Amino acid sequence: MTATPARVPLRATVIGAGGLGGPIALSLAAAGVELVIVDHDTVELSNLHRQLQFTTQDLGHPKATRLAGLVVARGGSARGVVMKWRPEEVDDHTMDADLVVDASDDPETKFAAADWAVANGRAYVIAAALRYGGNVMAGTPGYSCYRCLFEEPGEAPTCGDAGVLGPVVGAVGGLAAAIALGILQGDRRFAGTLVVIDDLRTSAPRFIRFSPRPGCPACARAPISPSSSDATPVRVAEGS
Ligand SMILES: [Zn+2]
Repeated sequence: MTATPARVPLRATVIGAGGLGGPIALSLAAAGVELVIVDHDTVELSNLHRQLQFTTQDLGHPKATRLAGLVVARGGSARGVVMKWRPEEVDDHTMDADLVVDASDDPETKFAAADWAVANGRAYVIAAALRYGGNVMAGTPGYSCYRCLFEEPGEAPTCGDAGVLGPVVGAVGGLAAAIALGILQGDRRFAGTLVVIDDLRTSAPRFIRFSPRPGCPACARAPISPSSSDATPVRVAEGS
């Protein structure tokens, strides 16, 4: 497969419009990235403590379209797609993305998104949060991939089941957005790296760089040409 030519503005697909997807989408859009936000869920009262982008006005509405509407109201570009992200149905919303960000609460989706990005030569960021911590994996073509490290979806509980401290998703989402913006600008420092926050209250992030796994079914024969330019403009705000 050939690489997608560089393009401005850059485009990203954000999978998941919840606690992680909120800060990720708002941050990327504020930096000028055009978004498609894919999520099949609706806003529930129990979501509001960690999904700060929503209010009681959003209850019962699809998260994807409500978050996209918030992005647009803030001057950004976003389209909400109400469906569960599946690699076999990406033509309409992910095929032209420069970057895929998984902010879902579903291990199967994370593996599918990473595998799809690797197979199609796209950069990707996979974010996860649980209880007091979380992790962010960044990948670009030519580097070790999500499946090199984790191999298969495990039996880990989701934050919907096991809970997550509200501020943790904001912190992990912000970290994922910062790394995603760096990758879109050509920064490869975090490619093939897992950033782990064990406990946001007590520990500093750990940066774990890992090697490609020989024979990895996802990346061993994947294209290595990056799909986006190594020098692309992302707006950086002045002041605080
Ligand atoms: Zn791999």
